[in-house]
Amino acid sequence: MKESDFYRVYSDYLREKYGEKVYKLPVSLPTTCPNRDGCVGTGGCIFCGEEGGSFENLSNTISIEDQLVKNMELIKKKYKAKKFIAFFQNFTNTYMELETFKKYIKEAIIEDIVEISISTRPDCIRDDYLEFLDNISKEYGVNISIELGLQSVNYHTLNKINRGHTLAEFIDSMIRIKKYDFDVCAHLILNFPWDDIDDIIENAKIVSALSVDQIKLHSLYIVENTELGRMYKNKEIKLVSKEEYIERVITFLEYLNPDIVIQRIIGRAPEENTLFVNWNTSWWKIKDEMLEQMKHKNSYQGKKFNYLNGKALKNL
Ligand code: SF4
Repeated sequence: MKESDFYRVYSDYLREKYGEKVYKLPVSLPTTCPNRDGCVGTGGCIFCGEEGGSFENLSNTISIEDQLVKNMELIKKKYKAKKFIAFFQNFTNTYMELETFKKYIKEAIIEDIVEISISTRPDCIRDDYLEFLDNISKEYGVNISIELGLQSVNYHTLNKINRGHTLAEFIDSMIRIKKYDFDVCAHLILNFPWDDIDDIIENAKIVSALSVDQIKLHSLYIVENTELGRMYKNKEIKLVSKEEYIERVITFLEYLNPDIVIQRIIGRAPEENTLFVNWNTSWWKIKDEMLEQMKHKNSYQGKKFNYLNGKALKNL
């Protein structure tokens, strides 16, 4: 039993696209986030720790080229890899002046980089930045992908987590990005205590309707020194159980367009300062449990993807 029996797997997609296995190399920039520095909010999303979304990167004091080369050498040696994606991962990687952004992106275009992936917020997508990326893509022959944090389509949940934007900004950014030949990966968290199964279905329907290309599912984890950590310690929230998380992921996949590529179905967390993560279970065990259940229920991605293009006209 393998993942690809049930949903479209990212590593298979990369192999189809590039003809071989491709590895993502994280790049850290000395940037921040408009939801932390007061531009749209302070304190950030209630779950966001000091790393701003990642804990696996090299220091941002090292040059971009050195970060890439260092990681590339390790992976080349270990897996005989030849092609790589430069992944601008931490915080909000378009939250800087356009000229600075241009400089950083150009620094990442080195030998064996076939794609540049940029993680950002929907309210940090602007036409002139996209236009620059399109020019770079054409000039240097690198593909562009953009990872957008949405987390939930529920307005009230987004307010609750202090997200600083709602679904409207996500829709706007998708319409703008889709004018170009870029892949878009949306990030969602399916175990918010404030969402229910109807929100999960709506998450799947909205990303499908907006032609998102890829999905990264994170499971909510709780770290020290965050507002969510405070709420957890004060017993102000009731966490979703592992069984319910699995049910939510399966339901989400059933409603999702089967063409959408799944980068990840569960998150991981740093060991230090973590108060709660994945029900004290390894992420791969949860994944195996989910696949078992999908097999048992004859479930698969897209099983209930029947709601677009005039659903109510089906008998006419
Ligand atoms: S948008 Fe990302 S980096 Fe900014 S506060 Fe939220 S989780 Fe942290």
